[in-house]
Amino acid sequence: MDLDYSADERAFRDDVRTWLRENLPADLHDKVARYAHLKRDDLLAWHRILAARGWIAPSWPREWGGTDWNVVQRYLFEEECGYAGAPPLIPFGLAMCAPVLLKFGTEAQKQHFLPRIYRGDDFWCQGYSEPGAGSDLASLRTSAVRRGDHYVVNGQKTWTTLAHMADWIFCLVRTDPAAERKQDGISFLLIDMRTPGITVRPLVLMDGGHEVNEVFFDDVEVPVANRVHDEGKGWTVAKHLLGHERMNTARIGTSRRELEHLKAFAATRRRNGKPLTDDPRFRDKLSRLEIELMALAITNLRFLDQLRGGRAPGPEVSMLKIKGTEIQQTLTELMLEAAGPLAQAVARVDDVPLAEDVIAALAPRYCSTRKTTIYAGSNEIQRNIIAKHALGL
Ligand SMILES: Cc1cc2nc3c(=O)[nH]c(=O)nc-3n(C[C@H](O)[C@H](O)[C@H](O)COP(=O)(O)OP(=O)(O)OC[C@H]3O[C@@H](n4cnc5c(N)ncnc54)[C@H](O)[C@@H]3O)c2cc1C
Repeated sequence: MDLDYSADERAFRDDVRTWLRENLPADLHDKVARYAHLKRDDLLAWHRILAARGWIAPSWPREWGGTDWNVVQRYLFEEECGYAGAPPLIPFGLAMCAPVLLKFGTEAQKQHFLPRIYRGDDFWCQGYSEPGAGSDLASLRTSAVRRGDHYVVNGQKTWTTLAHMADWIFCLVRTDPAAERKQDGISFLLIDMRTPGITVRPLVLMDGGHEVNEVFFDDVEVPVANRVHDEGKGWTVAKHLLGHERMNTARIGTSRRELEHLKAFAATRRRNGKPLTDDPRFRDKLSRLEIELMALAITNLRFLDQLRGGRAPGPEVSMLKIKGTEIQQTLTELMLEAAGPLAQAVARVDDVPLAEDVIAALAPRYCSTRKTTIYAGSNEIQRNIIAKHALGL
């Protein structure tokens, strides 16, 4: 097993790092560093810069705009973007809908949607979860009844991230309520958010931000041509997509950047008359976190080495989601601990090297980061996957 990068891989990383230094707009970097809620225009601005460079969809096949990078290069690119403080790439079109279309879509669907996703013409969201159907997704009840060349969709999706910004939603719907196995009656539809009968209502999270929504479907007509794969095969599509989702959640580059940020900040804070980084209890937590992040990076390299050798990682890849998100949460906990009473401050803060709005964002950010162990398949479910499929328990 090779747990180091080759000279070529290191050269590639340096090229990406240099390009990011020269091309990541300062205002976008600043918003990310300040934990600002990014707007559709911010997200699309970065998307289009990468698209112009030819780097927006590295994992797609070359004919559709992919880069032909190997798995290590793709990972290095993501890590460098996170480390540089680039805005996140919204996965719904690029990393979820596109792989589904590439594997299951018709030629007409690919020709229509893939170039639009590549250019950032369409902003997508994911309509899987429903009230009562999150972890137990196959219990979903949103119905699609076929009438001629249309389906008529009725029901509700929930927790739909960025639906208020989206032009399109991909949805799991129930086309056969009588199917023996509940997984067999499900189909996968692409739905234009401007279709009459769709209502989007905000769900405001505990950080005060509007990021997720409820989406209601009231007699919404969807062309049959917008169904991906056969009727009743939506569960096959969903499983394909969830595998992609689990690989994308470790965010090691972002956590490395935030750890550096935390260390620099903690060094300026004082406890019992000494820098906080000299406090044994805080130092212990900081070291533990750093070791966990190193271990995560090495675990990730193990998976990459498997992929280099042409073997797809198995269900144990869920470890990346569990550890990656736990680390993201611990980072925000220690930032909050380092800030102490300052995190409550709404007044001026003169004696710390962080801007007031960054300090003010720490507590909301702590709250917001609780979501990471819930979305993309909760960490309890990931542990079940490891127990059942990797450990055979
Ligand atoms: C911020 C955010 C954004 C999201 N964005 C989207 C989106 O864009 N599109 C979308 O479709 N969905 C989205 N989701 C929904 C997300 O996928 C679900 O919240 C998640 O799958 C959990 O489902 P649930 O909320 O119904 O909780 P439940 O499934 O009801 O689970 C409640 C608790 O029970 C635990 N639990 C459930 N079953 C088991 C079990 N078998 N063993 C052990 N523990 C169990 C869970 O881990 C959880 O702690 C988002 C969620 C959040 C919080």
